[in-house]
Amino acid sequence: MSSFVSVANENGVAVVTIDNPPVNALSFHVRKPLHEALAALRDDPAASAIVIACAGRTFVAGADITEFGKPIQQPELRAIIALLETIAKPTVAAIHGTALGGGLELALGCHFRVADRDAKLGLPEVKLGLLPGGGGTVRLPRLVGAVKALGMIVSGTPISADEAKATGLVDAAFDGDLLVQAIRFANEMVERGEPFAPVRDRDDRLAGTDLAAFDAQRAELARKARGLEAPLACAEAVRNAITLPFDEALAAERQLFLKLVSGDQSRAQRYLFFAEREAAKIPGKDLRKRRIERVGIIGAGTMGGGIAMAFANGGLPVTLVETSEEALRRGLATIDKNYAVSVSRGSLTDAAKQNRLGLFKGSTDYADLADCDLIIEAVFEDMAVKKEVFGRLDAIAKPGAILATNTSYLDVNEIAASTSRPGDVLGMHFFSPANVMKLLEIVRAEKTAPDVLATVPDLARRIGKVAVVVGVCHGFVGNRMLAARGAENEALLLEGATPAQVDKAFTDFGWPMGPFQMGDLAGLDIGWRNRKARGQTAVIADTLCEQGHFGQKTGRGWYRYEAGAREPIADPDVAALIRAKAEELGIARRQIGADEIIERTLYPLVNEGATILEEGIAARASDIDVVWVNGYGFPIGKGGPMFWAGLEGAAKIVERLEHWHGRTGRAIFEPAPVLRKFAETGSWEGAGGAP
Ligand code: NAD
Repeated sequence: MSSFVSVANENGVAVVTIDNPPVNALSFHVRKPLHEALAALRDDPAASAIVIACAGRTFVAGADITEFGKPIQQPELRAIIALLETIAKPTVAAIHGTALGGGLELALGCHFRVADRDAKLGLPEVKLGLLPGGGGTVRLPRLVGAVKALGMIVSGTPISADEAKATGLVDAAFDGDLLVQAIRFANEMVERGEPFAPVRDRDDRLAGTDLAAFDAQRAELARKARGLEAPLACAEAVRNAITLPFDEALAAERQLFLKLVSGDQSRAQRYLFFAEREAAKIPGKDLRKRRIERVGIIGAGTMGGGIAMAFANGGLPVTLVETSEEALRRGLATIDKNYAVSVSRGSLTDAAKQNRLGLFKGSTDYADLADCDLIIEAVFEDMAVKKEVFGRLDAIAKPGAILATNTSYLDVNEIAASTSRPGDVLGMHFFSPANVMKLLEIVRAEKTAPDVLATVPDLARRIGKVAVVVGVCHGFVGNRMLAARGAENEALLLEGATPAQVDKAFTDFGWPMGPFQMGDLAGLDIGWRNRKARGQTAVIADTLCEQGHFGQKTGRGWYRYEAGAREPIADPDVAALIRAKAEELGIARRQIGADEIIERTLYPLVNEGATILEEGIAARASDIDVVWVNGYGFPIGKGGPMFWAGLEGAAKIVERLEHWHGRTGRAIFEPAPVLRKFAETGSWEGAGGAP
C-alpha cells in the first residue's frame, strides 16, 4: 500500500482512496499504486464491487501537468482505464469537488459515476492546447451524446452535477455523505444483479447521431478557433467516436494528442498557465495582508461602473461616489442594465442580480468612503483632477485604507505625493469593460508599502482577475507597448497598405481584430483627445476626427458601417484621403505584404517589451505575456509577445529591426540590448527588474 492510494473493505465493497494533495493529480506516484490496487481487487473474491474515491477537497482534478512534454512513466492513465474495463464487478467513481481532465477520464473508465451535488465535471484540456488524451473524446460521447460532448470538450467548461445527471454523465447526484451513498449504490448494483457494460461498449447514444448537424457545429467551431489547432482536433476526435469502432477511435485520439502535445501552440498555452501563477508571486507575499471588506469607487463612468461590478461579482460591498445625483443615477442605471443583459442571456439568475445590486451603495458625499478599506479612483484622466481627489481622500479615508488610481498613463508617484500617506497609494489599472476583462496591472509606486502591494494580488484573485505587478512609466506595460505596436500604422497606410490589409494581417496572425477595426470600436476621438493633450498629431486619424468620423458610433471611421451594424466596409473616401496625404508628403506608394506589416508592428512590440524588462518596469518576460494575452487579445496559441519572439527567432527580429531602423531612423526599431542578448542566449532569464 502507498501513502497516496489506500484500500479499505466496507462490508464487501472495496473503497480505493486517492490522497495526493492538493488536487489529487494523477502523478506517477498515484498511477502506480492505483494500478496495482485495481489489479489485485479485480481477482479478489472478498470485494464484490469497487468504489474509487478521493481524500481532501476534490476528486482527481487532472493530470500532473508538470509531466507533460516528458517521457511518460508507466502505467499511464490509459492503462489504468483499460484495466478498469476488464473488471467484471461493478466499479463506481465517487466524485466530489471537481472531476477534471484525467480525473473525469478515470471516472469514465468505471461502470458507474455518482457525484456530490456541488461537484463539477469537465474536460478542460483544450485550454492547454490539448485534447483529452485518456479516452475522454471517445467515452464521453457514449454517455452524453456526441453534440453535448463536443460542446463540453471544445469549451473546456465544466458542468454541474445536476446537469451531469440530466445528460447521463453521472448515474446519481447526492446530498450528504457521498462515500456512504456511493457504497450503498455499489451494493445495490451488486444486489440487483443486472448486466452492466463498460462505457466503451455502450454505443446506443451514438447510433442516432445526426452527422450533418454535428459537422455544421464543427464548421462553426473551426470558424471561431482563429488558428487554434486544439479545438479542431477535439472535434475530429469526437467525430471519430461516432464513425469509427471504439479501439480505432481511441488510437486516433492518441495520435491527435501526441501531435498537439509536441506542438508550439500547446507549449505556449502550458507556458501561459504557469506564467499566470508566476505573475502572482511577488516579494513580500508572506507579509501580513490588509483586510479588504468594503471597497469605495470614485467615478461611476465607463471604468468606475465596471470596476464596481467586478467587486460586487466577487461578493464585496461597494460604495460608489459621483459628483452629482444625475451622474450617479446614470452610472447605477448602466450597472443595472448590464446585469439585466446577463439575466436575459441566462448567465445570471434574477435572484443573483438582486443580490449583487444589493451590494451597491451610491453617494455624492466623499465622507461615505470613510469606512472603505480600499478606495479606487476612476475619474477623468487629468492630473489636476486626480490630485484634487486624492487630497480629499487623504482627509477622509480611514488609517490603513489602500488608495488606488485607475489611471491609464499618469504618474502614480506624483498622485501619491498629493497625499500625506504615499505608502498606501498604488495603481490598479483595470481594462475595459472592467467587469469582463481579466487583466489587472498593479502599479507599484516608489513609496508603495510592501504590505499594500502584497494585499492586492489576493484581492485580484477574489474578483477573478489575473494580476501583474508593473512599475511606473507612461502607459505602464500594456499601453506603452501598444503605442509601440501602433507607431507605424499610419506610415504603413501612407506607403501603400489599406486599413483592411493591415487588419487582415493581424487576424491571420490570430488577433481577434486588427488595429484599425479596434480603433473604430473604441472610438477614434479618444486617441485624438489624448494626442491633442500631448501636443501630438496623426496625419490621417486627425483628419478623420475633424470630419466627425469617430468610428462605429458615428457610422464612419477607418471603415464605413451600415446603420446598427458592426461589419466594417472599406470606405473609398478614406482610401482617397490616404492617397492625398501620401502625395502631399511626397511618399511613393507601393504594395505592402503581410510580412512587412508584422515586422513593423509586432517586432517593435517585442522590442518595447525588451526595453521594459531592461528598465525593470516588469519583473519577468512571462509577466509581459500575461498582460498581452489577458488585456489585449494576443493569440494564446503564440504565448504572448515575448514567448512568440522565441518562436519567431530573436536573431531574425533583431536583423529586421536593424533593417527598418536603417531605412526610417525611427527609435522604435532600434534593437534593445536585452533583445540582442536574448538573440544570443535564447533566454530572457535575468532580464527583468523589481517593479
Ligand atoms: P468616464 O468619463 O467614463 O468616467 C469618469 C467619471 O468620473 C464621470 O462619470 C465623472 O462624472 C466622474 N468624476 C469626475 N470627477 C469626479 C470627482 N471629482 N469625483 C467623483 N466623480 C468624478 O471615464 P473612464 O473611461 O471611466 O476613465 C476613468 C479613468 O480610468 C481614467 O483615468 C482613464 O484613463 C482610466 N481608464 C480608462 C479606460 C477605458 O478604456 N475607458 C481603461 C483603463 C483605464
